[in-house]
Amino acid sequence: MQAFWRALSRHVIVQSDLLKFVTYYNTMFASERRTIILQYIADRGRVQASDLATEFAVSRMTIHRDLEQLADEGLVEKVFGGAVSPRTSAEPTSVSCMMCGMRVRQRTTFVLQLGDDTQLRACCPHCGLMLLSSRTEATSALAADFLHGRMVNVRSAVFLLGSDLTLCCTPSVLCFQNREDAGRFQAGFGGEIMSLTMAQAHLKNHMALPEVTGTSEVPVT
Ligand SMILES: [Zn+2]
Ligand SMILES: [Zn+2]
Repeated sequence: MQAFWRALSRHVIVQSDLLKFVTYYNTMFASERRTIILQYIADRGRVQASDLATEFAVSRMTIHRDLEQLADEGLVEKVFGGAVSPRTSAEPTSVSCMMCGMRVRQRTTFVLQLGDDTQLRACCPHCGLMLLSSRTEATSALAADFLHGRMVNVRSAVFLLGSDLTLCCTPSVLCFQNREDAGRFQAGFGGEIMSLTMAQAHLKNHMALPEVTGTSEVPVT
């Protein structure tokens, strides 16, 4: 009889571990799926819930919950049968980035104010921070908070570098009005939270060409 109870308790332990694993696995997968959905919306502008359900082999209800959560976070806008990127209609189409020439998206816009009332726009904080580093005459800079869309002063904003969500230039840089928002986003999408100066230094380092040393030079033939 004791052997039976021992076997049963072992069974229960294994079951609860399995349950923990399944819960963990499902949570992981849900956040991965949401990352991919956001990427699709960024690329195509619109997604259909039925297409996503087929692609991920999950129920429409699951996709509906994904879109619901992304909409709650302000990352997408739900429309009949699917979702679109938020406020696409209001996006200016003619403005291009001063750094790379890509179209400036309202969602990730970065504006540099020069002393003579000139404004320079960048497609995303990646280009914006590079631009800011190269324009010492800039008097101020604003960036769109990624969650709420408000323009915030970059000096008090925080930046999330290298998250899984690449909407524009790589490595991806997203701007948040505060550390709490950035932290919540980081929990799902990874990346590193940095202040303005840290992010600038990090990007400069990342984008710099390797130093050419005299000894390793290869002669051109
Ligand atoms: Zn750019
Ligand atoms: Zn960009």
